[in-house]
Amino acid sequence: MTSKCTHQILSESCNGSVTRCAKCQEIQLVYNNVVTKFNYDEFLFFESSISSIDPKSFIGTFFKNKNILIQSGISNVVFAFDESELSELKLLLHDAVILLETFQILSKS
Ligand SMILES: [Zn+2]
Repeated sequence: MTSKCTHQILSESCNGSVTRCAKCQEIQLVYNNVVTKFNYDEFLFFESSISSIDPKSFIGTFFKNKNILIQSGISNVVFAFDESELSELKLLLHDAVILLETFQILSKS
């Protein structure tokens, strides 16, 4: 992201947003205190990875039931979510993908 980026909102929730820069097409996810950036293909891959997480497959007693652990890409940093946060994140990403796919279809017609 540069200072010349002009991000437009693709989806929003209580704790986050997904935006895309109209100039460089970079996609930015802000969720609580985490900020991540993607290109289109990376974002689609990330969304499908998150959407396939089954919260029931995580068992543990982490702080505030944040038992759902997601690798950050940095070996010693793992993000921890509770079930409601995972649901919110899934919806946030899904709504953004629907809008991005709609833009893709419209740009081809
Ligand atoms: Zn930009």
